[in-house]
Amino acid sequence: MDTYMKLTAYGDNPEAALDMAEEKITELEELFSVTLSTSDIGRLNSSMGVPTEVDDQTSALISRSKILSEKTDGAVDITVYPLVREWGFTTGNYSVLSSERTEELLKFTGSSYISVSENTVTIPENFQLDLGSAAKGYAGEKAAEILKEAGISSAIMNLGGNIQTVGEKPDGSPWKVAVTDPLSPSEVICTISVRDKAVVTSGNYQRFFMGEDGRKYCHIIDPKTGRPVDNGLASVTVIGSSGTDCDLLSTALFVMGEESAVEFIKENSGFDMLLITEDGRVIITGNIFNDTEFTEKEIKNNAEVIV
Ligand code: AMP
Ligand code: MG
Repeated sequence: MDTYMKLTAYGDNPEAALDMAEEKITELEELFSVTLSTSDIGRLNSSMGVPTEVDDQTSALISRSKILSEKTDGAVDITVYPLVREWGFTTGNYSVLSSERTEELLKFTGSSYISVSENTVTIPENFQLDLGSAAKGYAGEKAAEILKEAGISSAIMNLGGNIQTVGEKPDGSPWKVAVTDPLSPSEVICTISVRDKAVVTSGNYQRFFMGEDGRKYCHIIDPKTGRPVDNGLASVTVIGSSGTDCDLLSTALFVMGEESAVEFIKENSGFDMLLITEDGRVIITGNIFNDTEFTEKEIKNNAEVIV
């Protein structure tokens, strides 16, 4: 998944459980990789509209992505890959796309055109999928299930910044998950105390390039415009029970922007959110406000608490 992962578990025999979790993550990587022609996604992306049989896990994740795409009015959309690729985010060969090219590629997007029937997935010709917005969250969720089945009741996993916790710390206190300050990425802005939850962040500081026009272009594409998101948000952190949903939603809420993200979180229970704007404002759901320690008192005093 093009990142570093760190898995830590406590208990009687954590090594065997961790080996199984690691195997699961490797298995998922081999199914979901967009750069591997033999992966399920690689095969789908060269399927030319022909129905393609995939693993249960691939069809499950595609189905979930479709549902959350619909729920977020298309803000997260695993069919934006042709744009992600041509903007250069796959290769690092960046270029600012012309509006003509953007319009052309937008014709090959839209999650509603993906059809999933049990293990068979069909995407129209010229469409390409990318599970980058969901794969790490899904992998964390599956790895947590494996650890629990193996009797582990205390673990924390960092999958390239997507945090998945199992239970609580061995001493019975909650896990403290650090959130990067998107305006100063070498620093932490706060820690959030959680038990048995996923904490997933999407932001414009993680992967971006500077255009010749001096503007910053980040790796998250607004499926409505085909252009990198530039809406005043610096990062969105979503906290919830399902790593998959948190991952899909962090991407979606980042695309939606401040107003719609706040509205979405107010209308959909089961998730908490920490939103940081480019002008340094912090918006946080009340449910986690008291469990969040900010590195500076001032930030806490100025935070806008919602729901
Ligand atoms: P995340 O870091 O979870 O927010 O996912 C971002 C990654 O998902 C990007 O690096 C792209 O590979 C892909 N992506 C970019 N924009 C979108 C989008 N609007 N919906 C779904 N996937 C996207
Ligand atoms: Mg995501």
